[in-house]
Amino acid sequence: MSNRKKTPLITYNLYLNERKRKFKSDPFKTSNWAYDETNDTYTCPNEKKLTFQSHSTRTDKTGFQRQFKIYSCEDCTGCPLREFCTKAQEGTNRKIAVNEKWEQQKQYVRNKLSEEKTGSIYRQRKIDVEPVFGFLKANLGFTRFSVRGNSKVENEMGLALMAVNLRKYAKRG
Ligand code: SF4
Repeated sequence: MSNRKKTPLITYNLYLNERKRKFKSDPFKTSNWAYDETNDTYTCPNEKKLTFQSHSTRTDKTGFQRQFKIYSCEDCTGCPLREFCTKAQEGTNRKIAVNEKWEQQKQYVRNKLSEEKTGSIYRQRKIDVEPVFGFLKANLGFTRFSVRGNSKVENEMGLALMAVNLRKYAKRG
């Protein structure tokens, strides 16, 4: 991200959830499992190690590919916590898939938003800017562009924002 001229301050879907006490104290959220970088292992709530098994690639319907590392628990046999941890059948060990690139990006966002300067910009943006997009989507039904190409998209966005400004102007009068 360092080669970008602008600093992206965009949260991911679960960002706000992750900050809640309930999420942070849930031992079955795999993002709360301790990671040992030296041995490349995670530790589950039953104090078992999940070790790296293989790489996996998933392709979504747009053709975008994501790389995952698959980890498997050393032994889930007879685990008293099993029902809280996995729906997998007895006799199989719990597996988790970790997208390292995505985890790094999430960490970048967390770090950025925890800095005083960028955190306050983000908080202000939630007040100044995001309601405008909410209005565009919910009230004007503007959920996607109908044109392609930078200049056409700029024009369409300009018209949509003009509608928002005209509404504000009309409300003042
Ligand atoms: S089911 Fe397996 S991974 Fe889950 S807590 Fe038990 S031992 Fe750990």
